Amino acid sequence: MSLDDLLRLSRCQWCGSESFSFVVEKEQWRLEACKNCQLIVLNPRPTPEYFQRLYDPVQQYDYQVNGERYITLADQFIGAYLSLIKGFERYVSPGKLLEIGSAVGFFLEAARRRGWQPQGVELSRGGADYCREHFGIDVFCGKLVDAPFEANSFDCVVAIHTLEHIDEPVVFLKRAIQVLRPGGLMFIEIPYLREDDVLNGLASRDGLELPNHLTHFTAASLTMVLTGLGIEILRSEASENLQVWARKRVTEGPTVGASRPGFFQRMFSSRSR
Ligand SMILES: [Zn+2]
Repeated sequence: MSLDDLLRLSRCQWCGSESFSFVVEKEQWRLEACKNCQLIVLNPRPTPEYFQRLYDPVQQYDYQVNGERYITLADQFIGAYLSLIKGFERYVSPGKLLEIGSAVGFFLEAARRRGWQPQGVELSRGGADYCREHFGIDVFCGKLVDAPFEANSFDCVVAIHTLEHIDEPVVFLKRAIQVLRPGGLMFIEIPYLREDDVLNGLASRDGLELPNHLTHFTAASLTMVLTGLGIEILRSEASENLQVWARKRVTEGPTVGASRPGFFQRMFSSRSR
């Protein structure tokens, strides 16, 4: 890939700062951190057209997972997703579910089997076609921002290993939150950077998947972005990947002041019992 084909971010996509500092270079790829908010991004990066060509063919899903072809592992993946989705039902009852970056549809099929009404968004034509043909589930092929969904129309919005691939993650998350109904559940899973990796300059860090991963979140930077967009984090787990369960607030606007009386009332009533 020639450097002429690359796009350079001139502003931080989160805070708008124009100052970046160098983090690490791997092969021809360079990670930079916003000097103001520390968000780490690939800069410069390939164009959206490059990624469209890369992701379109269904063959991109023909990679190995523990020595088996991913595409042949439907039973294993659907089985694992069934238990993940069962956990969602602690927070929200089965209803309309949107998976953004639905790949070949294993998660959507698991959601359908648990009684949800699933719908997908997938940039890859090969992935979207595979899901429609094998599982009969509706998939919008394209970017989330171009999909004709109504605001507040889903009970649950899910993005599993998708956010790190998105060229405009803040625009993406705003739209994902917009289509989620108040009180609805958002679940995000991403590969993430440990704070130790960042302090060590990422030099020894493998698995950055450059240039395909455009934003490299830490637990702190994902929390900064999600809470900054007004979504309430219910739970997060950082192990091999980072998983976050979050809820869209029922009331609009700042809720910090409004939530205090309730908090103190609960303290008072539990003490007086
Ligand atoms: Zn920034």
